[in-house]
Amino acid sequence: MSAELASPIQREFNPWLAAEARFDEAAARLGLDEGLCKILRTPARELTVHIPVQLDDGRLEVFTGYRVQHSIARGPAKGGIRFGPDVTLDEIRALAAWMTWKCAVVNIPFGGAKGGVICDPAVLSDAELERITRRYTAEIFEFIGPESDVPAPDMNTNAQTMAWIMDTYSMHKRYTETAVVTGKPLDLGGSRGREEATGRGCMIVTLEALRRFGIEPYNATVVVQGFGNVGSMSALLMSRLGMKIISVIEIDGAVYNPHGLDIEALRRHRQETGSILDFPEAETIDRDDALCLECHVLLPAAKENVITSQNAGKIRARIICEGANGPTTALADAILSERDIFVIPDILANAGGVTVSYFEWVQDRQGYFWNERLVTGRLEEIMVDAFHDVVSYSEKHKVNNRIAAYMLALDRVAFAIKLRGIYA
Ligand code: NAD
Repeated sequence: MSAELASPIQREFNPWLAAEARFDEAAARLGLDEGLCKILRTPARELTVHIPVQLDDGRLEVFTGYRVQHSIARGPAKGGIRFGPDVTLDEIRALAAWMTWKCAVVNIPFGGAKGGVICDPAVLSDAELERITRRYTAEIFEFIGPESDVPAPDMNTNAQTMAWIMDTYSMHKRYTETAVVTGKPLDLGGSRGREEATGRGCMIVTLEALRRFGIEPYNATVVVQGFGNVGSMSALLMSRLGMKIISVIEIDGAVYNPHGLDIEALRRHRQETGSILDFPEAETIDRDDALCLECHVLLPAAKENVITSQNAGKIRARIICEGANGPTTALADAILSERDIFVIPDILANAGGVTVSYFEWVQDRQGYFWNERLVTGRLEEIMVDAFHDVVSYSEKHKVNNRIAAYMLALDRVAFAIKLRGIYA
């Protein structure tokens, strides 16, 4: 359905319209030149490939894949590859731009890209997924590379997928090139600290925000939505600092303990039972009520469009740290700003993952691998600097943190384009 025909709710929930609204506002406030706006709105390169693959039963099938490079102004394009039955080129385009802004906010020398293959991993065997991955890699071979475009895992792809891409690329090159992808297994050039990087990044920027408000971590209460990679890792690291995780919200319900949940035990409980519910020393509460509990920090780390115009007025958190991508709609932004809730926007809050991906790429190119202390120390430096850059922009331009983050990103990318000039 076209954006013009969509209902107000559909428009509010459309993440690409939301990103566009923020881009427009940031560009207007920066007084960005119209020509530069045109460049920044348009992906630099798009590739569509049709991938013939033999299925396990002998049939031949053709899958469609994409790779979009939004910008290489600040360095090689960087972004994940997702597999899914509903992947579209429009979605991949928007996500590629999102990566450009995210890398610019944390000031790492990458542009933005995204890739995807239309396929349903739920009905494909591992062998079929491997053949799809390898043929897709062969088809986009000239497009990617350590100096040009560096893929990573995304929805329905993982470290194994990256190993297959790295191997296929290396077979074509006739030498092993680990730096062509990030998010690889540790034994194939992956980085220490990559798995917990996004959660650790959330923890670091949350600590900075708490410091701004003079709240000691051991006095802070936290509500976490989503207990997957980002949510459970953030909760674990925060609880180790003495922060009280008073509620965890999952797809099948929420658990609550005003004195703080034992996160290590909750992780074990979920692993053993498949759910966070029926956890001893916690009561089960309604998921919507949990989201609106009074707390210092609300950490949405599940999915997009969780904080909307319908519930933003009821949120009782001092700080929102967006672990997920796009958890807050543009309409909700305005309500949260008015209520003076301090939002750490997604393109800053969850950039710890891509930052450690950058470290992985550096280590692969150096052929020298860092210990975990070095990785976490350098991650902290980058996240803390980015946090203060965004907050300074917000104060200087009197805008909320999200618009500030977009302004900072646009400014950095536009500056690089101006410095390079237009090749003609
Ligand atoms: P994940 O699949 O490991 O975890 C997501 C969790 O959220 C799951 O446990 C799921 O059951 C739960 N969930 C789903 N719908 C829910 C709902 N309506 N209410 C409550 N819980 C719900 O995914 P992840 O890697 O942790 O990613 C979470 C979010 O963070 C996504 O938006 C993702 O794009 C974003 N993100 C992840 C990374 C990363 O490094 N993993 C990096 C940047 C951004």
